[in-house]
Amino acid sequence: MAINPEISVVVPVYNEEAVLDKLVARLLPVMDGLNRSYEIIFVNDGSKDKSAVLLHKLHHERPDHIRVINFNTNYGQHMAFMAGFEHVRGDKIVTMDADLQNPPEEIPKLLAKMDDGYDVVGGFRQYRKDRLWRKLVSKLHNRLRAAIMPRIKMEDEGCMLRAYSRKVVDLMVASGESNTFISALALLYAENPIDVPVKHEERGAGESHYSFYKLIRYNFDIITNFSLVPIQIFTFIGILVSFCSTVLVIYMFIRRLVVGPEAQGVFTLFAILFLLMGIC
Ligand code: UDP
Ligand code: MG
Repeated sequence: MAINPEISVVVPVYNEEAVLDKLVARLLPVMDGLNRSYEIIFVNDGSKDKSAVLLHKLHHERPDHIRVINFNTNYGQHMAFMAGFEHVRGDKIVTMDADLQNPPEEIPKLLAKMDDGYDVVGGFRQYRKDRLWRKLVSKLHNRLRAAIMPRIKMEDEGCMLRAYSRKVVDLMVASGESNTFISALALLYAENPIDVPVKHEERGAGESHYSFYKLIRYNFDIITNFSLVPIQIFTFIGILVSFCSTVLVIYMFIRRLVVGPEAQGVFTLFAILFLLMGIC
């Protein structure tokens, strides 16, 4: 392998022992067929099955092409991508899932667009092979993101079959973001992005790692990561509560001076408490 390969493929792996061999059996011929230098970086996201052992074996079989990063525990798919990005050596970086839902045979299509001068090439899944509720949540997710980041146009941010220029990847790493959504993050730095349709397949084996709860958390992350609106809303509520309680404190103080002591000490306490709560 050249010291700096032209292409880096980053693949997060979490408990994918049943599919890794199948993935490699399809991915390596595609990459070999490009006749360009490449590396594949598997990021083992704290798998509890035999994925780590299998990846170790794959690295020893193809040390020139396969590299492995092991996490001590499960940090999530996007953190795994970010760790891979910190170690890529290629000029063009492809990301994909390990479960074969993103067919490796689509990679040349993404790279052709990179060769045309685009700096972020996003795949959008045609005929998604997922459960109905997943597709609905994804739709909601895409709409939410579009509302939060209206200037950023993206067909399908949940599709991880994407390609990025090294410059965009380096900027993502430099941003130091954690718990982020890399497809949205990349578009903050992209100068010339494009979306291309890609095929989508059933999982090669196993089950999705995303429960309804985990997806809701991801949606929450996207709101808090990419928008100031939540913090502005809470700041506004805080200012309002402080203002009202300040008025109440002043009113109580004047009443104390005019009317004299009353059984309202508890209200004064509440007023002061709300004032402090508002400031916090
Ligand atoms: N993944 C990961 N860490 C996680 C969950 C998933 O690295 O905590 C990987 C997983 O091994 C796969 C990709 O992220 O390569 C997508 O995961 P999954 O297929 O479960 O998601 P879905 O396709 O249902 O969105
Ligand atoms: Mg999947």
